[in-house]
Amino acid sequence: MSMYKTRFWWACASIALVTFSLPSAATASIQQTKGNYEDKFRQLDEVLPTPNVYRSAAGEPGENYWQQKADYKIEARLDEKNRRLDAAETITYQNNSPYTLKYIWIQLDQNIFRNDSRAERSATFGSHPDTDLGGIDKPARISLGQLRRQQFMADNELGFAIDEIANSEGNALSFTIVGTNMRVDLAEPLAPGKSTTLAIDFGFNIIEEDAVGGRSGYEHFPDDAREGGNDIFLIAQWYPRVAAFTDYEAWTNKEFLGSGEFTMEFGDFEVAIDVPADHIVSATGELQNPDQVLTEQQQRRLEQAKTAQRPVFVVTAEEALENEKAGTDERKVWRFAAENVRDFAWASSRKFMWDAKGYQQGGSVQPLVMAMSFYPKEGGDLWKKYSTESVIHTMEVYSRFSFDYPYPTSQSVNGPVGGMEYPMITFNGPRTELQDDGSRTYSLAEKRFLIGVVIHEIGHIYFPMVVNSDERQWTWMDEGLNSFLDGVAGREWDPSIPWGVEPRSIVDYMKSSVQVPIMTQSDSVLRLGPNAYSKPAAALNILREVILGRDLFDFAFREYAQRWMFKRPTPADFFRTMEEASGVDLDWFWRGWFYSTDHVDISLDRVYKLQLDTKDPDIDWQRRRQEQADKPVSYFVQRNEAEGRKTWVEMNPDVRDYHDENDRFTVTNKQRNAYQSFLDKLEPWERRVFDRAIAENKNYYVLDFSNLGGLVMPILLQMTYADGSTEDYRVPAEIWRRNADNVSKLIVTDKEVVSFAVDPNWETADVDIENNYYPRKIIPSRIEAFKYERGTDHISRDLMQEAKTELKTEEDQSDDES
Ligand SMILES: [Zn+2]
Repeated sequence: MSMYKTRFWWACASIALVTFSLPSAATASIQQTKGNYEDKFRQLDEVLPTPNVYRSAAGEPGENYWQQKADYKIEARLDEKNRRLDAAETITYQNNSPYTLKYIWIQLDQNIFRNDSRAERSATFGSHPDTDLGGIDKPARISLGQLRRQQFMADNELGFAIDEIANSEGNALSFTIVGTNMRVDLAEPLAPGKSTTLAIDFGFNIIEEDAVGGRSGYEHFPDDAREGGNDIFLIAQWYPRVAAFTDYEAWTNKEFLGSGEFTMEFGDFEVAIDVPADHIVSATGELQNPDQVLTEQQQRRLEQAKTAQRPVFVVTAEEALENEKAGTDERKVWRFAAENVRDFAWASSRKFMWDAKGYQQGGSVQPLVMAMSFYPKEGGDLWKKYSTESVIHTMEVYSRFSFDYPYPTSQSVNGPVGGMEYPMITFNGPRTELQDDGSRTYSLAEKRFLIGVVIHEIGHIYFPMVVNSDERQWTWMDEGLNSFLDGVAGREWDPSIPWGVEPRSIVDYMKSSVQVPIMTQSDSVLRLGPNAYSKPAAALNILREVILGRDLFDFAFREYAQRWMFKRPTPADFFRTMEEASGVDLDWFWRGWFYSTDHVDISLDRVYKLQLDTKDPDIDWQRRRQEQADKPVSYFVQRNEAEGRKTWVEMNPDVRDYHDENDRFTVTNKQRNAYQSFLDKLEPWERRVFDRAIAENKNYYVLDFSNLGGLVMPILLQMTYADGSTEDYRVPAEIWRRNADNVSKLIVTDKEVVSFAVDPNWETADVDIENNYYPRKIIPSRIEAFKYERGTDHISRDLMQEAKTELKTEEDQSDDES
């Protein structure tokens, strides 16, 4: 190809064509639009559910929005010795839907632990870290933990025992259990606006969390001074809970398979928990009978904590240590009440110390929130210093992004669960390590884990405990939004901690081949961590910092949180609200980040420096002559010259003619007249524009970009000028709207550019940054020298020598260990 032409259509019928000189090889590619062509900017409304009276096109609850209500009264008794829970509950179910219901579905999540559950029967071998299919010359493997799990499940009868279900008249209702779901047939259909009551007696054997794995369970401490040791009980998914009945799905009928968490209804709870008298109980809600379960001193301390600068111990370390030595046959009943919560969880142990500090958040909703932590001596100084403070920090940051924390308590409890959230209560795993000298210390990793997990789990009290998204279907709606915000809160705590939600932290995942779109049902997601946590969190970071800017993003995000607090949003409600409230079309963003597995890889392939033709042949043709002269001379000619070989023309100067004295760039009056004629035909305004452009003689650069990753994104360009200064130029994603594969961009500068960089600050999760520079950079890396060593397989064994090995005694073994 010979000439690259850029056309300017000025806003007028008359067209003045100005040309740039450009080296060869530049081509403007035309995109293939047949076959696999995909419009990355196609409107998302074609995919989203149609707006209706329940959910509006703005992403708001519609004018007829409704949700059900389920209130619970539960009396539970913890049988510590048998690690069993027995309880009786009364559910008052309010039908706010426009439909008449003949039955009510109940979630029986404990049934996931039955040997014949859908989760157990559909578990695959080799797809879990605990099992490994092996390979060539490598046996398949199963972890001891997995064997322990199988043994525990074989030895214990797990799942709910449901004795009886009755209505308010005491008449038995028939029920049908379908895995982790149960249909209770009502005696009479429940009309819209009416409520009904179910009384359910139930019980179950509590799982050992370390053995089975789950979101609750007991942990045994065999080394405690007390005969037989002690347990910490974390109790959740523990009562038959009403399944969600919604405008978009009717009854939730996806069974609990383990990953997809819970889809819940809001309601009020009154729960009485009967435990050994020396236990300390933490639970969703507010303690109703402190005078019956706490000493007067403990009650005074709790009062002091409300205005304390640092957490105050309600139960001190010494008292907890004393408790865990003894045990008692006495019992106490702890009574809790919680309003407008979607679930209820609790924890109980005689090992707990308890600290508390009031968070004075002000406002009218909940001016004082009690931040509290419950932990055994194994939590130690790590918990004393950071747990309750992290709880408060979380509320300070999250409230700024959403709404005031709406509940009276906010709790962090240590136990066997690494991290799990419930309304007003969270389970968090980090511990200190017992050293030989009897002290307890913790690593930097454990400290970061504690602060990080507390922020994350307390953050969940906002999403999804208040903004009640459907976890069974969409893990990203709570984990992704929450990971985004826990990163914000985390960086405000200590930016040196890697929060894992920076754009750079997801590039390995984004370019990997084992991926499904974020918009995949929770139980079918591959690689849940990056899929449902880090990728959506990083995407939201990018949306905030790169695409919308903080003002627009924060306004829209807060709008989403406030629209949907104590309500039930779907993905469409989130997508629509973010667009409607920011005023920015983000369909391409949701498509690329949430509905596809494309990644970001924008390559800056070529840069052309263009010089505007003056049209004056005496200037332009001289330039072209120079361009010609700058091209390399044929090596054939060079070597002939080096050999001293003369050409015929040189040897016969007497026969030279006009063509030997002039070249094709020689200007004659013919061209000068044409130039004058070009100038004469310009309209006055065209002449002004042209003269100014010639006089300014700016630098025109054409940059060729290709989109190798498929995900359309803004191009964050940085120019470095010859004088060393830099300038940023942000190209919006819409540059890709007609051709998502290749685009060219004209950049006009006053100063000469020496290099261009795309996304030099790593803001877009571009997976290959080597192709982001023009000119390219040498890639710094490392190489290590190493000594080759032969492998030791069983043929290489020196059996003759090994046979001489003496058997070690137990004493020898312990000597080796120390
Ligand atoms: Zn989470």
